Amino acid sequence: MKAPAFAYAKPKSLAEAFALLRTPGAKVLAGGQSLIPSLNMRLSAPDLLVDITGLPGLAEIVPGRGTVRVGALVTHARIERNSDVRKHIPMLAEAATHIAHAAIRNRGTLGGSLALADPAAEYPACAVALEAIFTIQNSRGERKVNAAAFFKGLFETDLKAGEILTGVEFPAGGRSVFLELTRRHGDYAIIGLAAHGSRFVFFGAGPTPVLVKGNSLAEAKAALARVEPPADLYHSSKTKRHLAGVLLERAWNTLSKPR
Ligand SMILES: Cc1cc2nc3c(=O)[nH]c(=O)nc-3n(C[C@H](O)[C@H](O)[C@H](O)COP(=O)(O)OP(=O)(O)OC[C@H]3O[C@@H](n4cnc5c(N)ncnc54)[C@H](O)[C@@H]3O)c2cc1C
Repeated sequence: MKAPAFAYAKPKSLAEAFALLRTPGAKVLAGGQSLIPSLNMRLSAPDLLVDITGLPGLAEIVPGRGTVRVGALVTHARIERNSDVRKHIPMLAEAATHIAHAAIRNRGTLGGSLALADPAAEYPACAVALEAIFTIQNSRGERKVNAAAFFKGLFETDLKAGEILTGVEFPAGGRSVFLELTRRHGDYAIIGLAAHGSRFVFFGAGPTPVLVKGNSLAEAKAALARVEPPADLYHSSKTKRHLAGVLLERAWNTLSKPR
């Protein structure tokens, strides 16, 4: 199928983008790797696509004091390879290697993945595990939102109409582990885990990233026992919880080894 007809605009500044986003039926277009397939499948029919890939300053990776700021337009491929990300937020670099295949990683963006909030996606869980801070801009200014507060429900975020996620600040350092189970490399995860310190965040386990905390493995397992992952075509909720427990134990063992 082909996408329904839509108008297209590529603003050169945020002010121009916000003005365009006031048009009824307007939608932000970033890498297009989720939005364009959804148009082709006629799941969405926006009147105007506002292509934000020409906006200045949104594709930078800036290491700071104890943080790394990653612009919303940074692609999965750059996250995978960038030396600052690999050094300071290795969980994110590792997560990027699990996203789809190279063609999609070359176009898909951090901001697009987070704004979409697919419950099986890798980055939302990483952002919650790392307690990242999101910068959201609108025509009146900017606001900051904690990752955990950003994800509201199934494909639902704190972004309001006309707003653009411009970047994410990730705390640097600390020990983390990223694990996921898939049928084939690059598929969406059956179940996955982004673990940082004592924060264990599962994806594919609920409508939003699911945080499980524990000061001991027994405590974390007890918390996981209360999670009810949604069944998919091949796996029952019980199987997915079992697999989540396997990942939890692997991550716990890795994190408790002396460096
Ligand atoms: C075959 C296939 C396999 C895939 N496998 C995986 C996978 O395993 N894991 C995974 O995580 N993803 C996967 N993806 C999705 C991919 O990672 C997308 O790149 C990502 O979800 C969306 O990023 P994008 O830049 O392409 O956004 P777009 O498709 O352009 O936009 C997605 C949504 O976010 C909104 N949006 C985009 N950027 C912003 C912004 N800065 N501010 C506000 N709203 C914004 C758009 O309006 C739209 O609603 C897959 C995609 C395909 C086609």
